[in-house]
Amino acid sequence: MSAVDDACALLATLTDAEAVGVWSAPGRVNLIGEHTDYNEGFVLPFAIEHRTVAAVALRDDDVVRVASTFAQAPVEVDLADLDAAIARGGLDWAAYPLGVAWALRSAAPDASPRGVDIALASDVPVGAGLSSSAAIEGAVAGALNDVWAAGLDRVALARVGRTAENDAVGAPTGIMDQMASMLGEADAATFLDCRTLEAHEVDLGFTAAGLRILVIDTLVAHAHSSGGYAERRASCEEGARIMGVAALRDLDVADLPRAQELMDDVTFRRVRHIVTENQRVLDTVATLAAEGPRAIGGLLVASHASMRDDFEISVPELDLAVDTALAAGAVGARMTGGGFGGAAIALIDAELVESAASAVSAAFAEAGFRAPRTFTVAPSRGAARDA
Ligand code: ADP
Ligand code: MG
Repeated sequence: MSAVDDACALLATLTDAEAVGVWSAPGRVNLIGEHTDYNEGFVLPFAIEHRTVAAVALRDDDVVRVASTFAQAPVEVDLADLDAAIARGGLDWAAYPLGVAWALRSAAPDASPRGVDIALASDVPVGAGLSSSAAIEGAVAGALNDVWAAGLDRVALARVGRTAENDAVGAPTGIMDQMASMLGEADAATFLDCRTLEAHEVDLGFTAAGLRILVIDTLVAHAHSSGGYAERRASCEEGARIMGVAALRDLDVADLPRAQELMDDVTFRRVRHIVTENQRVLDTVATLAAEGPRAIGGLLVASHASMRDDFEISVPELDLAVDTALAAGAVGARMTGGGFGGAAIALIDAELVESAASAVSAAFAEAGFRAPRTFTVAPSRGAARDA
């Protein structure tokens, strides 16, 4: 059964009322631009075909009830108690959909909130770095925007998702995932300037070139990642302070020799990753337009080396995944996501996908690593109303 069927079947267990509609939003992969978001720089994510679906029915009262095939029991809150419930916390997974309801209501004061049953189903792998969180936020935000006549545009809905994640769930993330999930288009990526939130579509041309994105999920949990993440953020802030700029976004490659003179080696290498990574995102966009997707392989490989050597957020499993994919004929490969575990991606000819995946599995077995999960993703359309 598809996620749409699953969501509708779950809704039927909640209520006899007909669905008023079905909405969905995808997960995402970041093609290039890692840790640049909080430095007010550039990212280039794309939405994937894996989606979270929300089937919605109206209620006669003011209760918002959410249920998911992923969770044991539905959770319900009366709209009159929503602020208090969010402030109290402890909502577990329901903090995502109820947080969206809460954030949407305050972002759209002219909306007409009313009671609804929301049934969720998804084929986005949870916790694999593909942003199942942005997918659930986007599906619920799209649904409530229509059902409550909130009239928000896609960027505003992305902000609602981020507010839910930051302030209701309590995860201090940027807005990249929500923007990618909202704005995605088939065979395209979303270029995002994280300072201005200016976004535009970038044609990838993977399909015409016969290329696929192979995801290699190392299944290494992001252990201690919060500590490492906070440390990297602090180094970036320190580097910007030393250079007298608001954010590392304000530096370019020509500033690096001066940075090297002014700061200790570790801070300098953190800065160098951010500055060169921002440039690589811009170069990727320019190269795609001028030469097509086969020409971006070197930028992906350079991005990985920078994360491994300068930013020091890779792990042996990710390095092995990248090296093995390249040896198996990938055009380019890099770890993707925050690091310290998670997944790598390889840009690779369709006919080499299977042999590359086998080569990675064999290399992991040889190294004594846990067997990785491999699958392909295709750049796909963003959030939509499906029925
Ligand atoms: P990622 O976004 O990388 O998949 P996160 O930790 O950011 O990982 O988000 C995963 C969390 O989002 C899950 O633990 C769960 O609380 C919530 N979530 C995601 N998808 C669903 C879903 N379909 N149903 C219920 N909760 C979900
Ligand atoms: Mg997430």
